[in-house]
Amino acid sequence: MTAVPVLRNYIAGTFTDSADLLDVTNPATGALLARAPRSTQGDVDRAIAAAHGARQAWARRPAIERAQYLRRVASRIRDNATRIARTLTEEQGKISSLAAVEVAFTADYMDYMAEWARRIEGEIITSDRPDEQILLLRKPMGVVVGILPWNFPFFLIARKMAPALVTGNTLVIKPSEETPINCHLFTELLAQCELPPGVFNVVYGQGTTGAAMASHAGVDMISFTGSVATGERIAAAAAPYITKLNLELGGKAPAIVLADADLALAVHAVRRSRVINTGQVCNCVERVYVERPVADEFIARLAEAMAATRYGDPLGGDDEVEMGPLINRKGLDNVAASVRRAVDDGATVVTGGRIADLGQGFHYQPTVLTNCHNGMDIMRREIFGPVVPIQVVDDLDEAITLANDCDYGLTSSVYTRDLGKAMQAMRELDFGETYINRENFEAMQGFHAGVRKSGLGGADGKHGLYEYTHTQVVYLQG
Ligand code: NAD
Repeated sequence: MTAVPVLRNYIAGTFTDSADLLDVTNPATGALLARAPRSTQGDVDRAIAAAHGARQAWARRPAIERAQYLRRVASRIRDNATRIARTLTEEQGKISSLAAVEVAFTADYMDYMAEWARRIEGEIITSDRPDEQILLLRKPMGVVVGILPWNFPFFLIARKMAPALVTGNTLVIKPSEETPINCHLFTELLAQCELPPGVFNVVYGQGTTGAAMASHAGVDMISFTGSVATGERIAAAAAPYITKLNLELGGKAPAIVLADADLALAVHAVRRSRVINTGQVCNCVERVYVERPVADEFIARLAEAMAATRYGDPLGGDDEVEMGPLINRKGLDNVAASVRRAVDDGATVVTGGRIADLGQGFHYQPTVLTNCHNGMDIMRREIFGPVVPIQVVDDLDEAITLANDCDYGLTSSVYTRDLGKAMQAMRELDFGETYINRENFEAMQGFHAGVRKSGLGGADGKHGLYEYTHTQVVYLQG
């Protein structure tokens, strides 16, 4: 039997052993893949101290120099893309083609953020006094902690690290306990790029490690991606220090399909949205409102397409597999319980509706539910699995009212050929993102952000970059 790899924290440029370790397993097979540290308060203290130690010298460097490190890491990622993608599939369960896209996108994202180095802009404002200039400077926040989920674990390292580092912050990352191995690969590649010690640190662990980071007095900003429940805990833990928060939380994205929609496009996009990463994507369609005249046809076509989805172990030898397992037993049980409750509340299963029996792995059948309504849990709480609940509506006004009546406000989508209706949806949908006649998937130059309980602040593009800065006003009299 070959030895299982043991991961090590990366603090102040050094890999350090830990005595207390957690198992990392493959969700499709249950195979043990690695052991990762369950980091202690002491580990967190050391990592944050290292980030403090590196902070001033890093912030003093020209941004273009900081950007060079991002480009170097991006290049190493491209050189090791196949190995990283395989790891992502093994530890998270996403299919190989999606894992390859995630890795490539991560490298591109690092390059994209590096390009901002020459464009981080302040302002000069006219003063009311003679001989005075008012300058607005953009300054780094200082020490940032990044706490990550498991669903796009490799990309999310870059989404935090690239804007944080190029703007002059130092960073401590904690990946999810479900997916630490890809972070280990990232860190190994980064360690070859001669980044100054302490600029980028990693501690592994569960919620207790994350809680130690969130409640740390030495942290200037918390950049968190994960569930609303954890976001609430983090906000409470950070409250005594008024630490700056950037929270990317859950979603319950509505898709509105109007009678004049391109139905083939709507079916394709909604299905993909639930099949991609096995429905475990924060911005993908979690509920559908379809206009009555096309409801029967839309539901029939969607159900047929969902039922035709091939699922199984992404590394089981079937190259046609489009959907892997859910992340773990808890995820599977949540999806199964959501569907059971919906059926008890009056929903009808058109296709799927059960845990899939493949002998091993956390698989759920691609599922379509009709006769749903906004009073049901399944239309209000994040499912995070391959299930589409559908409500039939009479018109766009009703759809918009139902879509907005939700604790979450991350993404939304509308399918229509009528420009006026598209513009009404754009104006009246209260969400951080709205996709019109397009699949839900954000671009790196956009701004990924939620309203209501979906988060605070946002990521990507210029606005995401500036989240990692604060403004200093200088009154310059001369
Ligand atoms: P989670 O909230 O359970 O865990 C996320 C991270 O928080 C993990 O690293 C975990 O160890 C840590 N954590 C747990 N308890 C903590 C605590 N008390 N203090 C500090 N850290 C703690 O989320 P998950 O199950 O890993 O991810 C799925 C969720 O992430 C979904 O709700 C999904 O919608 C959301 N998500 C949002 C976005 C976005 O951009 N808005 C992107 C991806 C995922």
